Parts: sequence; C-alpha cells; structure tokens
Amino acid sequence: MTTGIKKRGKRKLRPIAKIIMVLCVAVLAVFSAPSVIDILSGGKGIEFIGKDINLKTTQAPDYVDVQLINIGLARTGKKLSSVENIVVHYTGNPGTSAQNNRDYFNKLSTTVCSHFVIGLGGEVIQCVPLDEKSAASNHRNIDTVSIEVCHPDESGKFNENTYNSLVKLTAWLCDNSGLKETDVIRHFDVTGKECPKYFVDNPKEWENFKNDVKEKLKKYK
Ligand SMILES: [Zn+2]
Repeated sequence: MTTGIKKRGKRKLRPIAKIIMVLCVAVLAVFSAPSVIDILSGGKGIEFIGKDINLKTTQAPDYVDVQLINIGLARTGKKLSSVENIVVHYTGNPGTSAQNNRDYFNKLSTTVCSHFVIGLGGEVIQCVPLDEKSAASNHRNIDTVSIEVCHPDESGKFNENTYNSLVKLTAWLCDNSGLKETDVIRHFDVTGKECPKYFVDNPKEWENFKNDVKEKLKKYK
C-alpha cells in the first residue's frame, strides 16, 4: 500500500514538474525576447515597453554613411538605457581612415566599437544603431553615445574637415537627445584616460570646441 501511494504520488508529480518547467521556460523566453528580436532585426525600428530611450529619432542625418557592424563581441545588440552624455574619443591610430576603424570594429575578435567614426576628410560613418550600446566608454556605455575621431598625427589634433564634422554631428546628437554642449564629455572625464589626447592636453581647446557646439546647436532652436 505504502509503495503504491508513493508510486501514484510520483506519477502525479511528474506532469506538475513538467508544467512548472514549461512555465519557467516561457517566462525566460518572454524576458529574453527583446534581445533575441533585436539581434534578428538588427536593432532597428522595434520599441519595447521600458525601453523608452530619450531620442527624437534613431535615424542619423543624411551626411552619415550608415555601415552597421555585425552583432558580436563589440556590438552586442543590447539597448541603451538612455542618452545622458555624448563621449568624444580619438582613435589613437594616426593617419587611419574612418573606414579602417569601422572595419576593425567589425572584426570577429574586436571587443570595442563606437556609434560613429569621423574620418580625415570629414566623412562620418555610423557603426552602431543609436538606440544600442557601443563599447567605447567603459561603465558609461549604457547611457552614452560615442564618437571616435581620426587624426593625422601623434598630437591627436583634428584637422579642419574632421573638426567641422565633429561639431556638426555633436550638435545634432545633443539636439536629438535633449542635451546641451555641457553634456558633451571626453573619454578622459569617464576614466582619466588620455583620450581624446589633444583635448586632454589642451583644455582651452576643449572649451572652444564645446562653444562651437553651442553655436551650432542654436540653429536647431
Ligand atoms: Zn577613448
């Protein structure tokens, strides 16, 4: 008798355990769905509850050459929580082009990437969708948009074309995310890293840059 009851008990528990397992899997699937869908969709055009990012649009301006890198170690497909700052970087590779740097980000083994790269001719390449995390600014990747900027030599100083594009893009990003020029920061301000070198070595030039962004921003007001 005792054995019989135990057996019946086991038989009854098994389906219940299965139902619980199925429910657990279903709950997990629901919670992980955004990232799965993001990966399948390339992170484009899908809004999720609780992911109401503070951007007017995820569409970059016409002068931006959109060449999104593949989902991988660098671009994970994970969404930004918000956009609280714009982070300016320099590539640290004198003479390399925007295309060189974008293609490096796209390599399977690369673990870093930025939203935008500005080249020596002033060209702008977008590598990561505006509502996704980049991998450039350490613990601030979650709530910042990153711009890597090419430079001709070791000083890290940007040439005129590159600089003008940086001002134009930064002002547009500020307007698009409701930020001011004072919300534009250097990688240096996040971690103390000497990046972008010229603006760390020359704080006055950094202030001048932010003033130029402020002036450019006025055209959006
Ligand atoms: Zn940097």
